[in-house]
Amino acid sequence: MLNHTNSAALFDQAKSLIPGGVNSPVRAFRSVGGGPVFMQSAQGAWLTDVDGNRYVDFINSWGPMILGHAPEVVLEAVREALQGSLSFGAPTQREVAMAGLIREMVPSIEKVRLVNSGTEACMSAIRVARGYTGRSKIIKFEGCYHGHGDSFLIAAGSGALTLGTPDSAGVTEGVAQDTITVAYNDLAAVKAAVDANPEQVAALILEPVVGNMGLVAPGPGFLQGLRDLCTANGIVLIFDEVMTGFRLAPGGAQELYGVTPDLTTLGKIIGGGLPVGAYGGREDIMNCVAPAGKVYQAGTLSGNPLATAAGFAQLSYLRDNPALYEQLNATTTRLADGTRKIAAELGLNYTVNQVGSMFSLFFTAEPVNSLDDAKKSDTAAFGRYFHAMLNRGIYLAPSQYEALFVSTAITSDIVDLYLSACRESLQEAHA
Ligand code: PLP
Repeated sequence: MLNHTNSAALFDQAKSLIPGGVNSPVRAFRSVGGGPVFMQSAQGAWLTDVDGNRYVDFINSWGPMILGHAPEVVLEAVREALQGSLSFGAPTQREVAMAGLIREMVPSIEKVRLVNSGTEACMSAIRVARGYTGRSKIIKFEGCYHGHGDSFLIAAGSGALTLGTPDSAGVTEGVAQDTITVAYNDLAAVKAAVDANPEQVAALILEPVVGNMGLVAPGPGFLQGLRDLCTANGIVLIFDEVMTGFRLAPGGAQELYGVTPDLTTLGKIIGGGLPVGAYGGREDIMNCVAPAGKVYQAGTLSGNPLATAAGFAQLSYLRDNPALYEQLNATTTRLADGTRKIAAELGLNYTVNQVGSMFSLFFTAEPVNSLDDAKKSDTAAFGRYFHAMLNRGIYLAPSQYEALFVSTAITSDIVDLYLSACRESLQEAHA
């Protein structure tokens, strides 16, 4: 077993100072048991914790570290920006360059507003959709995560046609009335929800490829079906590409699947690991945003010089090296296919979903196309597998319902390391 003495001591201290000892719930390892590992530093594919243990990172800060940790191209840009102070609260040239680069890589984004997190991006995008349409309701999907804005923390009602209920204490019934939640990949349920709320739905928001119930791909025709439905009913279609943007392709999932949303939300990856987010899309819709229009949205630190420098460096590096996407996809295909094969050889036949450089091993032999499918997983066995992998120096997401993110720093030798740990850990989890 690895020595986690310092992590355990820090967690004890943290619990007396920070709710649950962490600044974001999934970090607490609640769904896999045990206490979190406190990190000290990272380089390339490797994390080092406060006890000196090293792990291959398959979380990559939940996506943004697509080039691995501390890539020189990003660090250099931040060092340069650092010389010119940390914040101005006034416009800068870097923000203009960043907006131009986002538009170049994601052509559906005609105008873009920078914010500080994916949560802010999604909250703002639905406000803009409401302002633009003059309507109140939104449709979202069970298992898609759009940050912790009140409107998104809503559980599905008892049927596709019933309104949602608050899924967190502190969210009001009033807010829940305006969010309709349906099952992912169920186009008929979306149609029914739209028909039941004529001229009332402002926006339909989804992860075009879901990372937040484990990795789940849209079924054939699902995204186009949503596009057509939104166009026919005057609903603003929002792709939340906080995880998929610039990762599944230079232009995100919308490029990969050839379906164009009206608005797109972006996050972490556009800051290269610094706090940032963005939302953007059709010019006529984005012109509703203050001070151009009447939908208010603001931010003291928005367009921060360090975050825009890091993000510009990372995104332009991706744009200039398109072969990286082939490398990422090939590495991930080896990981996903290898995992599937090992599980089958062990008689487990577990489902492995992969799109580009994101993948998930579900502890169920059934196909996983929705949250209900994902919930069939044996989460206790997943918890044992997670700890067996951690003990072998493989840092996975500490929940069955999360995707793994591959970086360009994962070499073929590291894939071999992962696969042998995977075989041993699956055996250990089922011993
Ligand atoms: N949207 C998606 C798809 C996400 O995965 C996340 C976070 O993981 C968010 C929005 C919220 O982003 P943030 O954590 O930066 O607020």
